[in-house]
Amino acid sequence: MTLLIALLGWAVQAADPLGHAYWNAVYKFWQAPAPSSIVVVNGVDANELGVAGEARLLDIVRGAKPARIYLDFKLQGVPAGTGDAALRGSIARLDPNAAFVVRSTKNDGFNAASFNFPDPDLVGRHPIVLSAWSVNFLFFAESSPNSIVLGGQRYPTLSTELAGGRGGLFGMLYPDFAVEPQAIRTIPARLLLSSHAPLELLAGKQVIVAGSGQATGAAYFGHQMPSPYAFDVAGAASLERPFPISLTSLPLLSLVGFLLWWSRGKPQRIRNRAYLVTVGLVLAAPVALRMQGIVCYPDTALFAVLVFGCIRLWQKRTRKIQHTSASGLPNMLALSNSALPVGCDVVVAAIARYEEILATLPMELHGECAVQIARRIGAGSGAAEIYHSDGGHFAWTEEARPLDMQLSHLEGMRALFAAPLQIGVNTFDINIHFGLDRNEGVESATRVNSALASANEALANGRTIELFEAHRLAEAPWELSLHARIDEGLRNGDIWLAYQAQWDLASNSICGAEALIRWNHPTRGPIAPDAFILQAERAGRIDALTYWVLDQAAIAACAMNAKGRRFQMSVNLSGQMVDKPELVQTFAEIVARRGVDPSLITVEVTETSGLGNRTAAIHNLTQLRQLGFRLSIDDFGTGEASLAYLADLPSDELKLDRRFVAKIVDNDRERAIVSSTIGLAHALGQTVVAEGIEDAATLALLRSMGCDHAQGYFLGRPKPLTAFEHDYDDAGARAFGHV
Ligand code: C2E
Ligand code: MG
Ligand code: MG
Repeated sequence: MTLLIALLGWAVQAADPLGHAYWNAVYKFWQAPAPSSIVVVNGVDANELGVAGEARLLDIVRGAKPARIYLDFKLQGVPAGTGDAALRGSIARLDPNAAFVVRSTKNDGFNAASFNFPDPDLVGRHPIVLSAWSVNFLFFAESSPNSIVLGGQRYPTLSTELAGGRGGLFGMLYPDFAVEPQAIRTIPARLLLSSHAPLELLAGKQVIVAGSGQATGAAYFGHQMPSPYAFDVAGAASLERPFPISLTSLPLLSLVGFLLWWSRGKPQRIRNRAYLVTVGLVLAAPVALRMQGIVCYPDTALFAVLVFGCIRLWQKRTRKIQHTSASGLPNMLALSNSALPVGCDVVVAAIARYEEILATLPMELHGECAVQIARRIGAGSGAAEIYHSDGGHFAWTEEARPLDMQLSHLEGMRALFAAPLQIGVNTFDINIHFGLDRNEGVESATRVNSALASANEALANGRTIELFEAHRLAEAPWELSLHARIDEGLRNGDIWLAYQAQWDLASNSICGAEALIRWNHPTRGPIAPDAFILQAERAGRIDALTYWVLDQAAIAACAMNAKGRRFQMSVNLSGQMVDKPELVQTFAEIVARRGVDPSLITVEVTETSGLGNRTAAIHNLTQLRQLGFRLSIDDFGTGEASLAYLADLPSDELKLDRRFVAKIVDNDRERAIVSSTIGLAHALGQTVVAEGIEDAATLALLRSMGCDHAQGYFLGRPKPLTAFEHDYDDAGARAFGHV
């Protein structure tokens, strides 16, 4: 990965500035003397010396007997047949090997157009040497060819000539920037002309007679832009080293790649060392190699170690985030972010009263507590890694066994916690609850959260294991936003009330109705109340619904009672609501606001999720009854709504559950139960309502048993208020049967 980024960096030259900064820093400190065989006579400029002065200077230099002279000043202004005859004479008198230096006017792609040759007539039989430098993207001189072919003729470059004809390997040479431009021996032309400089300085040397006007535009590492000849001198100096060659950046990059690859999976300490060695190597190797004349660019290698370092730092940081500080165990986030193994269940264990346990321990033992629990879980499950989050949750993955085996496996693990935990001087009993997610294929984070929610549910309900069912996953987003959706449904009329008639069997007339909630969801269609009442209870929205139902039902009760006959309106009250402290007050307010006598309202207590606080529930029901509300025990004979209810709850009415009622025609046992229940209820002074009557036979049987009121599809389906009113008005004339 790092290598890939490095190669990419190499391709887009993102690493160049790094190498650039590197060489600039290196050559600031690494300074070598210039070759002593080279002397520059500078300041040779026709404007300053006059052409005659230049001519005289050449004679003086020639007279000093140098090894070779290089004419590196502007001669383009001296065309054939014009100019100063003296200068021509001086040039002609020079040794035949005195060379003309022609500098490239470009920094790359050298061809005939890059060079302005002096007049051939002026050059005569003297050789021409070239100076041409390729530059990097920041214009720093990088390389020069040993020689260049122009118009079929090969010209050597000044550097190779200064190095006595030696060139770099593979036809290229690379300037040695360690050569300090200021250290190149120079003698100003003026001093020579005024005989102020000893001529011995030039004897036997390679003398570059340099003008001041020829700037290359190239830059020199570690220094300000020097005079152009400095590059050629540096080039010549590089050729004195043993291996004048460039290895580019690949060998170093490969080495870095190898070292970082090698350290993979090694202990942290070794990895850190390997990294430091790599960095050191990348920094030192190019200089060491350069001393041998070998050019090796550190750019991409530096880029690679830098990227690698950043990635490591980032990983370290995330690892830190993914470990809980006190225990040192990886936290849930780490599990959520990991790819779960194929064929696994996610288990979360919730430890009961974990905070209380921690509260009794000194801070420094908190980690120890988590570690001990994790160790025990690890021993029971065999999981390699146990994840821990503050608040006493531990997560891991289990091989996905058949459900019954998985459940008994977890039961077995619970047994491991039968022995108390010993932390410091304290012993603790540990009560553990499990949440299990078996939804393979779902995102890790979702699975961890599902298992976590189930573990919390198990903890809250005192169960050992709670399974997160797959269908709940689909329902989860819906359930989580139910709060807002219910409010919206109430606002826009998607939630409404249906009324189902209750008949008085003695008078054969409608004596009341049960208000039943309906929800026509715009996208999900009609939602059965059984389903969303349960969800509303979970979402904590059942209060708003209940109060809204009572309010609407109270309005309807007013309307119905205004028709002249007494009309009893039943509403349902979820078991979960019964112990709510504000219940009685709110009910009283609603009926008062709507001007309804509370005795016209029957409150059916439905046990959907069990009674919460029984004492508070009984207290509330007693108060409601004192206010005048009638109380009914709904779904009698099912769940908790049994004899215990009848004994405890103050009530006026008992509603036989439709599951019994439906069977009385065909089934002797049910018939006996219903019949004796009616007797029992009457003995306790209760009215009996039978619900779920679907045929005439059932109705007839119930009547014969002495049942007081009847409700069911046979007598009338739940309907919107207007339709119900219509039926009610009709029913005055006709008795049962219009189903
Ligand atoms: P429940 O209070 O026992 O209401 C009677 C249910 O039996 C109603 O179902 C009604 O439509 C249905 N039913 C009536 N006659 C027949 C029949 O002849 N055959 C059959 N098979 N069913 C019949 P619904 O409306 O689906 O309501 C289901 C449950 O939802 C209710 O049972 C009640 O527990 C709850 N519920 C309805 N509205 C409310 C409400 O406003 N608040 C609360 N807390 N619960 C409500
Ligand atoms: Mg009911
Ligand atoms: Mg019922």
